[in-house]
Order: sequence, then structure tokens, then C-alpha cells
Amino acid sequence: MNEVKRPKKPLIYYYVIVILILMLFNFLAMPWLMQRQIQQVDYGTFISMTEEGDIGQVEIQSQDNQIVFTDKDNKNVYKTGMMDDPDLTQRLYDSGAKFSSEIIEQMSPWLSFLLTWILPIIIFIGIGQYMSKKLMQRAGGANSMAFGMGKSNAKVYVKSSEGIRFSDVAGEDEAKENLTEIVDYLHNPNKYKEVGASMPKGILLVGPPGTGKTMLAKAVAGEANVPFFSMSGSEFVEMFVGMGAAKVRDLFQQAKEKAPCIVFIDEIDAIGKKREGQIGGNDEREQTLNQLLTEMDGFEENSGVILLAATNRPESLDPALTRPGRFDRRVPVELPDLKGREEILKVHARKIKIAPDVDLYKIARMASGASGAELANMINEAALRAVRSGRKSVTQADLEESIEVVIAGYQKKNAILTDKEKMIVSYHEIGHALVAAMQSHSAPVQKITIVPRTSGALGYTMQVDEGEHYLMSKEEIENKIATLTGGRAAEEVVLGSVTTGASNDIEQATKLSRAMITRYGMSEEFDMVAMETVTNQYLGGDTSLACSAETQREIDKQVVALVKKQHEKALQILTENRQKLDELAKYLYEKETITGEEFMTILNR
Ligand code: ADP
Ligand code: ZN
Repeated sequence: MNEVKRPKKPLIYYYVIVILILMLFNFLAMPWLMQRQIQQVDYGTFISMTEEGDIGQVEIQSQDNQIVFTDKDNKNVYKTGMMDDPDLTQRLYDSGAKFSSEIIEQMSPWLSFLLTWILPIIIFIGIGQYMSKKLMQRAGGANSMAFGMGKSNAKVYVKSSEGIRFSDVAGEDEAKENLTEIVDYLHNPNKYKEVGASMPKGILLVGPPGTGKTMLAKAVAGEANVPFFSMSGSEFVEMFVGMGAAKVRDLFQQAKEKAPCIVFIDEIDAIGKKREGQIGGNDEREQTLNQLLTEMDGFEENSGVILLAATNRPESLDPALTRPGRFDRRVPVELPDLKGREEILKVHARKIKIAPDVDLYKIARMASGASGAELANMINEAALRAVRSGRKSVTQADLEESIEVVIAGYQKKNAILTDKEKMIVSYHEIGHALVAAMQSHSAPVQKITIVPRTSGALGYTMQVDEGEHYLMSKEEIENKIATLTGGRAAEEVVLGSVTTGASNDIEQATKLSRAMITRYGMSEEFDMVAMETVTNQYLGGDTSLACSAETQREIDKQVVALVKKQHEKALQILTENRQKLDELAKYLYEKETITGEEFMTILNR
């Protein structure tokens, strides 16, 4: 599905070409073709042809001093020079030649028929064929239907070609368990028919990007050893109304022929978005969706065709699509937890050479919040790093660096900070770390660095939790906000002025404190009332407000108060530990990167 499509040219482009070709033909080619080839002969031949009555037409061109004539059948044209020959005209007349004034422009009737009628028709047919081929390609390939439009180009994977099994998908145990039933059904449908149980027709895999939804669908086909049809929702949406619907029809027809099989539609939200009553909606998408709904109703239960679809915006799907009898089973495919991350790392680490010192559990802890795809990417980055430095296997350091690359980008080799800037960044980062260390309930510091990254970060403090956290208490969130303000607080304590370096901290602190008030019910005033709802859970978690304007004002006030309180706490912690702050910042300034242990030894000295 990663073929590159050439940009489409508008139809008008082809019309312009047709017109240009015709004009060229008329102005250049026609006059040239109409001129007949003229053979030069000597005067003697002309005289003897005249005497034998072999001349058809003749033209005396006195300005050019030449005679042009044809033979009896008007086929060949000749010319010859003129001589002083007074009764030539009489003799020509006697021989039966016709006098003409436009021999050269004349052509044989057969040729003229060809040029004026047949050739343009051939050109038109050629262009027509070319254009309909173009259209067919746009419509997606083959040409069995009328005009070749509306053929689905679903890709068929069979077990042998892909060979993905459940064991390749790490973590996601609940999803796998859920799908095992489908595999069992595909192996042994009679078991289900006997009891009268029927499989759901459609199963919706929902979860954030890169969590292995596509992999799971392929694994179901791989385990059940059935064909796998795969298409992306966006491939159905075409330029012409009705073509997407035709594709859906074709896909289902193919699937029914190959049953039992799996049909997988990735990004189903591209066609399955809620239909809205507004005028001028997307007709093509709606028709495609309607066709999909019809097809799903059309095949009986237990026909052996199982539909899997993936989306990361389940809330935007049309209710008709998710009602019973269609995509009625929903399998969540969430971001992996600590154990899941470790397993995913193990699966991908099998493909590379790993040094004995590697501790994947620690890597899994450091990469909290990463998706399966990101983890796979980290392993590959580490392997590339090992190759770059000429090693034969991947070390722990490679893996740790690759996490930072995925989080913060590559190290910026040639970013030169002034000494003053470097000092400020050192204080800023130690400020974060110190505030974190001085509060209970905050994750231990793992690493502090002031090496700039390509993401724009001038430095960062990495905190890594011991285990997995599923809940966060109010105190923990407050401490986190205090830690976030710690960087700026350090600048204030030491320099008495502030820099732009805290913008990302500010953003995060605001988000957290807002969520505490509007979504987690952690403010006294609003109690357990939701002031905001999350609109797309899996893609960044945008929220929309659900309260009156006065309440919004009150919320804003409280958000500010909350952050301010934590900021003050951070300032207090740093002022009380001013000496340690200076000592640690100096140490970081010299070393540029320090570990959590180094940090703790200096702190506890
Ligand atoms: P999605 O369809 O959910 O966006 P994919 O199934 O396309 O994600 O996953 C992309 C890649 O990420 C896979 O090819 C695989 O290398 C890796 N990956 C994602 N999740 C897992 C997992 N649970 N186990 C192993 N690899 C995974
Ligand atoms: Zn910061």
C-alpha cells in the first residue's frame, strides 16, 4: 500500500493536447502530404510522351520556366524545363492532354479520402483509448467492468507470503484472546453451527497508531491459514461518485469466492465517518459507506467471510456501522504496559545481535508510553548506531541512546551554546531534578543532560518509574507540576531573571492542572462534574469544553492558582537547597551528561 501515485492531470489537459495535435496536423502535415512528389525528366521524354499521347494533364509555368505534367492515369507527376517551342500548345492539344493550373496541389482521390476521413478517426480513437486507460488506472487497475472502473485492488496475502502469527505480536494478550475465537471458528465452523452460534460479521480493532492492529489482523489470517484481503479505507474514496461503491462490491465478491477468508479494512474512519445531514456532504463517501453496509447485510452469518477493521477514531464512526450485525464486536488494542513493552522489545531484539549486558526490562521502563511501532523503531535505531560505531552487537548504551533519539531527536553536533547559555541550561535541568528528588511520590531521576537535540530541546531530565503506574494520586500530579516548574524556578532563584527555555514545561504543567480540574474531579468547587470531554482518545486526546462561559472563567482562574502554588513550592525547595543547586549545576555544566546515581551521590554527600 505504499505505491507512489503520480499526480493526476486535469481532464482539460487532454483536450488541449487533442486540439494542438489537430492544429499541427492541419497546418503542417496536410499541405506537405497534399504535395505530390515530382520527378524531373528531360525535354525529349516530354516530347515523346506528347507524341504518344501519354500525357494526362499539363501546366505551363512560364514564370518558373518549367512545364509540369502527369502521365495518362494521372498517377505520376513530372516536370521539365521550357524550350522555345511555339506550336507546343497545339501539339499538346492534339495529343489529348488537358490543360490545368493546379496539378501540384491535386492528389489522388484515394489519398485525399485517407487523409481527410480515416486519419482523423484513427487519431481520435487512439486518444480515446489512451484516455480511458488513464481513467482505468485512476479507478485502480484492471479492466473487467464497463470502462474498467470500480475494480478493487485489494491485496491478497496468504499465509505463506506473510507468515505473521500470534507469537509475533507481543503483549496485547486480551486482543489475542478475543481473536483466537475467530481463528478457532475458521478452523472448525461446524462446531459453532451445531450449537447455533454465529460469529460476528465484523470486528473493529480500536487503538492508537502503531499498536499492532494490522499485525493482529494478519496474524488471524496466518493462524487460520486463510486468504487475507487488505485495503485501506482511503483507497475506496475516489474522484467519481459511485466508484468507491463499485470497489466495495468487487471486494466482497472476491472475498465470497475465496471464503473462508479475512477481509481487513484499515483506517475505516475514512469511509465510515458519521453521515451528517448537511447539504453538500461528501456524496462519494456516503455512497461507499452505504454500499459497505448493504454488503455486510447481504452475506449470511457463517458464510466464512470475517471482516476486520481498524481505526483510531472510534467515536467518529457512523452508528449504522457499529450496530449489531455489522461491526458489533470491538477489540481494544491499547498502548502496551510495562510487561507488554518488554515483550515487544524481546520480539524485535530476536532479529538483531544483542550484547550480554543488555537489560530490556530497564529499556521498557525508560520507554514508558511508547507504542509497539516506536519500540520496533528504537531497536532498529540502536542496531544502526552499533553499525555506525563499527560494533558487531547492540549494547545497552545503544538502546538508551535510541530511546532519546525517538523522544528528543538526534544530538545536535554543531549547536554551540555560549558559556552563559550552557550555565542557564544546567541550572534549569538541575532545578527539575532537584525539585523531583526533594518530593516524595516522584519518579527517580535517571539521567540529566545538556546536550542539545534536533527536536529543539537544549537539555532534559529523564525520570523513570520503578514499575508500572495505572493510577496517579492528586499529590503525585501536584508534585509533577512542581517538578515541571522547577526548571524556571531555578533560573529565578539563581539569575533573578527568566528565559524562553521553559515553554514546553509551561505547556505540560498547564495541561496537567487543567485536567485535574476539568476531568479528574480534583478541585473542591466543581466536585465530580466533567467540565471537559476527551474527543479523540487515541490521537493526542483533544478535549472540548462542556460548560458555561462563567464556569470557564472560574476554571481558568483555578488552573492558574494551582500552577502558581506548585511554582512557589518549587521556588521554596530550591532556595532551601541553594548550595546543592549550585554544586550540582556546576557538575552538570562540566560533564554535560550525568546519571541518576551521580546525581544522588552528590545530593546525599
Ligand atoms: P497499527 O496498524 O496499529 O497502526 P501496525 O500493526 O501497522 O500498527 O504496526 C506497525 C509495526 O509496529 C509492526 O510492523 C511491528 O513491527 C510493530 N509492532 C506494533 N505492535 C507490535 C506488537 N504488539 N508486537 C510486535 N510488534 C509490534
Ligand atoms: Zn524544563
